[in-house]
Amino acid sequence: MKLLIFGPPGSGKGTYSSRIEDRIDVEHIATGDIFREAVKKETKLGRKVKEYLDRGDLVPDELVNKVVREKLKEKDDFILDGYPRTVDQAKFLESFTDLDALIVLDVTDEIIIKRLSSRRICRECGEVYNKLFNPPERDDICDECGGELYQRDDDKPDVIKDRINTYENRSEPVLDYFEGGIPFVVNKCREANAPIEEMVDSIMEQLRKKNLIS
Ligand code: ADP
Ligand code: ZN
Repeated sequence: MKLLIFGPPGSGKGTYSSRIEDRIDVEHIATGDIFREAVKKETKLGRKVKEYLDRGDLVPDELVNKVVREKLKEKDDFILDGYPRTVDQAKFLESFTDLDALIVLDVTDEIIIKRLSSRRICRECGEVYNKLFNPPERDDICDECGGELYQRDDDKPDVIKDRINTYENRSEPVLDYFEGGIPFVVNKCREANAPIEEMVDSIMEQLRKKNLIS
């Protein structure tokens, strides 16, 4: 099963993908995670992408395409998160793989801003929390590993606005590009604190109805 999860920053792509990964046997592949890891480890790739991530800009297509091509290689099962984010990336992806379905997360700008500004991440294990909607038991400490929680630089208010603009201008056209070509599963969310499991249930149910999973 080759799935793509698509939506604005803060729509829950990463959160839902890891739950879906647990329920059906697909590997969660997130370009944002790959880049952040590279920046943290100060690899060659990390040095190239850092300035884009800090500003909330898109990493150039050529570079992202190369990374994804390498990562997907001969894989038959995956859920792609954060790629493609431009029509050119979508064309490149289609040139070497066929997707089974696209999961669209439809959320309002208001929810995005609320969620992103309160998002916190574990420095050690990468677990994602939300100070308002999914807080850790102890303030700023990871429930899983005791690591320290931090706020991503690109989750600060100024950068959030730029990321929403970039999404609308560069990424939304990807939906038009795929429309009609592959099945769409649309998940509408109108509350910032919508229960995660319910959202995932509804996505799974739609995949089942479309006979994409049993
Ligand atoms: P979010 O979906 O919350 O905006 P991600 O973790 O998916 O965040 O991505 C973080 C950053 O990584 C983006 O703002 C961008 O700089 C870079 N990035 C990730 N995926 C891509 C992509 N497909 N094309 C270009 N840049 C990307
Ligand atoms: Zn942790």
